[in-house]
Amino acid sequence: RQKASIDIEALFESIQQGNISALSQAITLVESTAGKDSAFAKAILGKALPYSGDSFRLGITGVPGVGKSTFIESLGSTLIESGRKVAVLAIDPSSSITRGSILGDKTRMEELVKSEKAFIRPSPAGTTLGGVARKTREAIVLCEAAGFDFIIIETVGVGQSETAVHSMTDFFLLLKLAGAGDDLQGIKRGIMEMADMIVINKADGENQTAAKHAKREFQNALHLLPEKEHGWSTKVLTASGLNHLGIEEVYQKITEFQNYTNESGSFENRRNNQELFWLHQTIEDQLKSEFYNRPEIQLLIEKLERQVLEKKITAFEAAERLLKS
Ligand code: GDP
Repeated sequence: RQKASIDIEALFESIQQGNISALSQAITLVESTAGKDSAFAKAILGKALPYSGDSFRLGITGVPGVGKSTFIESLGSTLIESGRKVAVLAIDPSSSITRGSILGDKTRMEELVKSEKAFIRPSPAGTTLGGVARKTREAIVLCEAAGFDFIIIETVGVGQSETAVHSMTDFFLLLKLAGAGDDLQGIKRGIMEMADMIVINKADGENQTAAKHAKREFQNALHLLPEKEHGWSTKVLTASGLNHLGIEEVYQKITEFQNYTNESGSFENRRNNQELFWLHQTIEDQLKSEFYNRPEIQLLIEKLERQVLEKKITAFEAAERLLKS
């Protein structure tokens, strides 16, 4: 059987020249779970790493239907007009479970898809969020090496995926709707604390008054949160992705944030903390999965679980025994 081989040098050269299909191919390699690809994936990442890090990484989240795709299309055109190259990557926490991706349909980003200054890649499939997050982080590195200087990471507003995206971006933007009944009650405190900006979206037509009202409510609620250590206070804006309203202001505020955090050193701080977070996160994930995958542990766990429920031993004692074994 012929051994498949990939010319990593040539592939990387094409990536650096901005060749989109080379970039796609490299991301596919990195996403692959096939054993034969892993050495190539490592090699291409190793080449890209020294050329990565120079982009601005923007995280965007919001519930399905809030207008993420439309907003990104609109913001993307502003970014491209101001000379930036935009890559859009998505983390879809549901894709591994339902096999159907909510973020998979990117046809709504018609303009971005057509532009050669944009690159759009839907979520990689994965069995764990940690796995998907790792692949997304590696895709960021490859996009940066290909010269994309503005990376947008999109996710839907469910659970841990938001924390994962927050942990790999420089700026975290939360999209909300006015008067959707979830103004402040439904919003998790944690996500408000993570947000660097809240945009009340679909602020057009009859929605405009409600959007202004929601903006004030969010601003008031934010005052109750403790100040962030880097000193940037969360901004609240209104916008319409559909009608391209307020989008320039969003970009302006993001630029302001970039200048502010660059000067104060908190930009680099956040990046460094993220690197260390992922280092430890990966160690934890691997230790855990190696532990739980051992056949002898799987047998013993069942036995000890029963004993805990029968109050024969305490949960702590059971854990200790498992770890010692
Ligand atoms: P996503 O699921 O968050 O990506 O949301 P989409 O971008 O697909 O938008 C969902 C629906 O809301 C679509 O029917 C859009 O046309 C509509 N929509 C998106 N943005 C706006 C907006 O700014 N104003 C209005 N009125 N409708 C919008």
